[in-house]
Amino acid sequence: MDDEGGKTTPNISIICESCGSKFSISMNIRSTKCPICEHRISM
Ligand SMILES: [Zn+2]
Repeated sequence: MDDEGGKTTPNISIICESCGSKFSISMNIRSTKCPICEHRISM
């Protein structure tokens, strides 16, 4: 399954503070845009 060397980047779930949508992004991303409303979210 996911057990081949630990090189996978874990995902985290975040909730858009603008529209309340929940989605997951890669943990090493510092900021992203909400895929629903395009609100900018920074970690
Ligand atoms: Zn949003």
